[in-house]
Amino acid sequence: MIEYKGVTKQYPDGTTAVDTLDLTVSDRGITVFVGPSGCGKTTSLRMINRMVEPTSGAVLLDGRDVMDGPAAALRRGIGYVIQQAGLFPHRSVLDNVATVPVLSGQSKKAARTRAAELLEIVGLTQEIGRRYPAQLSGGQQQRVGVARALAADPPVLLMDEPFSAVDPEVRERLQDELLHLQLDLGKTIVFVTHDIDEAVRLGDKVAVFRQGGVLAQYDTPAEILSR
Ligand code: ADP
Ligand code: ADP
Repeated sequence: MIEYKGVTKQYPDGTTAVDTLDLTVSDRGITVFVGPSGCGKTTSLRMINRMVEPTSGAVLLDGRDVMDGPAAALRRGIGYVIQQAGLFPHRSVLDNVATVPVLSGQSKKAARTRAAELLEIVGLTQEIGRRYPAQLSGGQQQRVGVARALAADPPVLLMDEPFSAVDPEVRERLQDELLHLQLDLGKTIVFVTHDIDEAVRLGDKVAVFRQGGVLAQYDTPAEILSR
């Protein structure tokens, strides 16, 4: 369970990016942060994995302030996917995914077996696993990014505009796959987008961000459409 309790973030230059945010993220569902550019979505997302530290208030994960204890332990339970998949260019796709379990102590063989399963889950073939990232389409690279984020089997997945750079048909396919994956794996997903259609499509819960920190929350996407 992830909760924002009166969370404010003011950057050192004086910009208040998030103002007294109170929000509960849907457990084992997809919570979407939607709104125009610059209204604090990414800042809010990054306070979950401590890439950004709140100025006041707290983000709680299972009742505990995420700022307590070591960041590394926190991040082991939180996958992170961004618009640029950020793959290692000199490693095969399979090894991009296998790197994570190897770093957490698994044998190379076990990690590769797991990586191959994950690639299959995100719809990539073994043949693609042998390629290098530059030999993949944008949509395929994003799939690898998702597989890599899942490699540590984190209960929480943070996704920041993960599908924005791919063309609309590919985006729809990736959205469908994410919905299936969420149903199968039961992850708690927080998904940032500026695209209202994407929010309605994916969200179990949708938080609408606006400039100035004003926020509306909808527990079903249908509520948004009815306004
Ligand atoms: P969004 O994800 O909705 O586009 P952000 O959280 O990225 O919004 O940004 C919210 C506000 O905080 C914007 O005004 C942005 O310019 C500002 N901001 C973001 N990161 C920084 C930073 N590191 N330093 C100063 N201001 C920042
Ligand atoms: P997607 O629908 O997944 O985005 P694309 O339509 O962009 O895929 O690409 C179609 C096919 O072309 C894919 O099988 C992809 O692997 C291949 N492809 C795309 N870019 C490259 C590249 N730079 N080098 C080799 N193959 C590529």
